[in-house]
Amino acid sequence: MTSVPIPLAVPELSGNEREYMIQCLDDNFVSSVGPFVTRFEKEFAAYVGSKFAVACASGTAALHIALRLLDVTTTSRVALPTFTFIASANAAAYQGASCLLVDSERTTWNMDGERLHDELHRRASAGEPLPKVIEVVHVLGHPADLEPVMAAAETFDIPIIEDAAEALGAMYTKGPFGGRQVGTIGVIGCFSFNGNKVITTGGGGMLVTDNQFLAERAKHLTTQAKLSKRGYLHDEVGYNYRLTNVAAALGVAQLERLDEFLAAKRQHAAAYDAALAGLPISVAPRTSWSESTFWLYSVLLDPGKHRDAVLDSLNRAGIAARPLWPPLHRQTPYAQSERVGGTVAEDIYRRGISLPSSVGLTSGERDRVVAALTSAVA
Ligand SMILES: *Cc1c(COP(=O)(O)O)cnc(C)c1O
Repeated sequence: MTSVPIPLAVPELSGNEREYMIQCLDDNFVSSVGPFVTRFEKEFAAYVGSKFAVACASGTAALHIALRLLDVTTTSRVALPTFTFIASANAAAYQGASCLLVDSERTTWNMDGERLHDELHRRASAGEPLPKVIEVVHVLGHPADLEPVMAAAETFDIPIIEDAAEALGAMYTKGPFGGRQVGTIGVIGCFSFNGNKVITTGGGGMLVTDNQFLAERAKHLTTQAKLSKRGYLHDEVGYNYRLTNVAAALGVAQLERLDEFLAAKRQHAAAYDAALAGLPISVAPRTSWSESTFWLYSVLLDPGKHRDAVLDSLNRAGIAARPLWPPLHRQTPYAQSERVGGTVAEDIYRRGISLPSSVGLTSGERDRVVAALTSAVA
């Protein structure tokens, strides 16, 4: 094949990124001191509708700090979906906590809130330990159904954190959270600005919360828990998790274009939905009560189709389609974790593929993806 390769998800950097980066160099502010860091935090908080935002070196760092803020320790359990990117669980492992892995539901592929609800009740009546924190992940950018999770969390007084790494800009449009962005409903929300995410800072993350005490502690912990302005006095073990001014400069420029990026991703999704309608596949999750970011537009091949053969065929045509994540309970570090079900997550993994979803994907490239997929599943 001689066609130009079509990447899975690459950054779009054609706005003010260059100008702001040059400003960092001209002002000599390249490390974590500098005006772009606080500007990015303020503008990000305003965008998602949170009181506070604390910039972090990565999404994983933001999750780690979130769990530490909620006193997750070596004796704690964190409930989270088994179908997610591994960083969601690694944050718990960094605190020495164990994971309670919960299966997905079929509508949004997110953690099955009903199963979690039943499991918490079962544990409570059996006298078994409950999770210290529930970590909801909005996988692939589709909001998780938070109602049953919230009901269970309130009954047992367990805080919820949201891993919204893939879901910046995703919204609830109906129900009790209607009009709110994902990441702002739990006690803490975490976002990622890794290279392939909805917006990028090269590498980076953000922790948001409405709780001033938690926000101040997050900032303290991400800056080595340094107490004094002068000298080196620290009151606990902190981390070097601050975002740099250079990265934040990229973030400010990217945030200016977020609405445009989301519109492009949603347009790609609508076009894929229409073009793939007749094929032996289920199109990406979509619900009447939310708006997904369609971070990576992903479909399920009908049972009986050979996923790897379809991927090989797409890859040979220069199309960077990819499988989804093996469930965490199938990954070496979490194979021994406690879990609730797992067959739905395994089925999604076995049949799922992600299609090219860059903001800058052209309609011609999309047509090539559709044509290649059509012939691959024929
Ligand atoms: C990308 C991602 C993370 C980690 O973010 P980094 O910025 O890469 O550390 C965490 N959770 C999910 C679901 C992700 O997709």
